[in-house]
Amino acid sequence: MKIICIGRNYVEHARELNNPLPQNPIFFMKHEACIVRNNKPFFYPDFSQNIHHEVEIVVKIGRLGKAIAKKYADRYYDEIGIGIDFTARDLQDDARKKGLPWEVAKAFDNSAPISRFYNKKDFPDIQNISFHLDINGKTVQHSNTANMIFPVDELISYVSRFITLKTGDLIFTGTPSGVGPVAIGDHLEAFIEDKKMMDFWVR
Ligand code: ZN
Repeated sequence: MKIICIGRNYVEHARELNNPLPQNPIFFMKHEACIVRNNKPFFYPDFSQNIHHEVEIVVKIGRLGKAIAKKYADRYYDEIGIGIDFTARDLQDDARKKGLPWEVAKAFDNSAPISRFYNKKDFPDIQNISFHLDINGKTVQHSNTANMIFPVDELISYVSRFITLKTGDLIFTGTPSGVGPVAIGDHLEAFIEDKKMMDFWVR
């Protein structure tokens, strides 16, 4: 399986990092060794001094598809969860300045903790799901999928023009504003609506 992550899909987040709004979805990739499940701790890596949290709604691909038309895109995913796109912001800023790829900053091992997944039928409207991240009991990021620049169906259609999507692949759909650093000892809790989906510690 693979993980496709969307960048700058919420206006307020693009602004907080001084990025222009994209004309098309921006994506990059993570991989299987990035996944952390079952609320296992996130171990702070030694190569960064500025790891940021990015909470994101995650969509799980349910069937193989290539060049998927937007109007059929909802047939290609069945399940929804939430995840953290951990980002080594210091390494990313350095890579951006030098025009280098982002993998060192985004695709390191254990950089993508995920929740369990729920059938999309549990949600009346995929583009109206509120979600938030609390750190040490204080809400640091909160938004609603209604605020996405590119909705999920458009993301699936766009990405699948370039990359074949396979069963079990994950799409991280972008983070809202409020990203910031985590520290060893922090307690992270991620929610979809009022349901707690993740509960883990930075070690
Ligand atoms: Zn992200």
